[in-house]
Amino acid sequence: MSAISVAQDVLTPVLTKRWLTSDAWTIDTYELLDGYRGLRKAFTATPDELIQLVKDSGLRGRGGAGFPTGLKWSFIPQGDGKPHYLVVNADEGEPGTCKDVPLMMADPHSLIEGIIITCYAIRSNFAAIYIRGEVVHAIRRVQNAVREAYAKGYLGKNILGKGFDLDVVVHAGAGAYICGEETALLDSLEGYRGQPRLKPPFPATNGLYSSPTVVNNVETIASVPFIVLGGADWWKSMGTEKSPGPKIYSISGRVNRPGQYECGLGTTLRQLIELAGGMKEGHQLKFWTPGGSSTPMLTAEHLDVPLDFEGAAAAGSMLGTTAVMVFSDQDDPVYAAYRFTEFYAHESCGKCTPCREGTYWMVRTLHRILAGQGVDKDVDTLLDTSDNIFGRSFCALGDGAVSPIISSIKYFEQDYRDYISGVKAPFFTGAAAELA
Ligand code: NAD
Ligand code: SF4
Repeated sequence: MSAISVAQDVLTPVLTKRWLTSDAWTIDTYELLDGYRGLRKAFTATPDELIQLVKDSGLRGRGGAGFPTGLKWSFIPQGDGKPHYLVVNADEGEPGTCKDVPLMMADPHSLIEGIIITCYAIRSNFAAIYIRGEVVHAIRRVQNAVREAYAKGYLGKNILGKGFDLDVVVHAGAGAYICGEETALLDSLEGYRGQPRLKPPFPATNGLYSSPTVVNNVETIASVPFIVLGGADWWKSMGTEKSPGPKIYSISGRVNRPGQYECGLGTTLRQLIELAGGMKEGHQLKFWTPGGSSTPMLTAEHLDVPLDFEGAAAAGSMLGTTAVMVFSDQDDPVYAAYRFTEFYAHESCGKCTPCREGTYWMVRTLHRILAGQGVDKDVDTLLDTSDNIFGRSFCALGDGAVSPIISSIKYFEQDYRDYISGVKAPFFTGAAAELA
């Protein structure tokens, strides 16, 4: 058996199973492919039974943090007299992450069907889909799907004669990474500048317009119709005990076939690289991220780490968004750390000092090192600044911003030292060596 066919055994096409069918994004084709069957089945259960089903399935949030979805739904207070809301976080912005946009393009009705079931379960009559503003094609695709769902009676008043009403709006963000943080997203949706709110209280009790709100990622919500149709045991037959179910891994970088691969949680980088056609010719794996730039880099030592929430953490990283970025011996970990840090400095919302000032200074220090003007203590300065950001920032952006620096120094300190001592030629020369 070839290496590729071994790897293909780990594929579990569930959420991606319709992606290769042309026009699966239209409601007519979607209905021919089991679409909205999950909703009809869900309507035969009570809202509480659905929450229990999702709890039993072990589904964990696919936006990065892995919080148990059914538990989050159960936090919505009942009989409180307040409106309840569902907000879908489609502000996919973590560098390297590319799963929610393809899902919305290929199969937008799975998201809408998931929204209807979720709203029925949490007793909400209003949902908003907050989509990253730059992906205009995805915004149009989802808007079109919402229109189709209204026209066929899946949205609006008295859905399928069940006496349940639901309105869905699509909201385009304006291109700020911080608006992917759930409370900044809620502020942005309410028309304010998107900046994180203090947590607790969590959105489950004080969310949109201070009302109980479930905020879930696109992939999480799109999983729901499949769980309703297949059942909790079937869902748990994929993945690992504590991280059940299939997951869309997006793999990019120095591999032959970058793209999205849906496999059970716990799949390893070795298997993912095989699925992606192997490393590009002439490239040897040097470092990689399990789940986007805010998850600490790992190395070739970690090829067999199970990529689930527990495995990634045990290896000293995080599963994050399963955005696997593969770098080779032709890539520079110091420059990669610099580019990631530049991104965080640019996207810092400025609300708290450690992140606002710290990311600015880390960019300058990294630039100095890469320009051949570093001094020995710069490595310690970077670690010290990271220490003053991590755990002392207002939201997860600050913690994520130090991951590339701490992990690249952990594994590749010599690369830093070689720039500083002059063993390695400067990356930036001439005008590029001057700081803006
Ligand atoms: P978090 O752990 O603070 O919260 C996760 C979810 O659980 C939230 O919805 C939160 O409201 C809920 N929650 C946690 N504790 C709760 C409680 N006691 N009661 C009620 N609800 C509770 O994580 P976070 O800051 O929301 O997200 C961080 C993650 O975001 C990172 O792991 C990162 O991977 C990911 N991320 C994703 C993207 C992307 O593009 N998808 C971008 C940046 C970061
Ligand atoms: Fe804003 Fe950064 Fe503070 Fe988060 S950590 S609130 S992004 S300044």
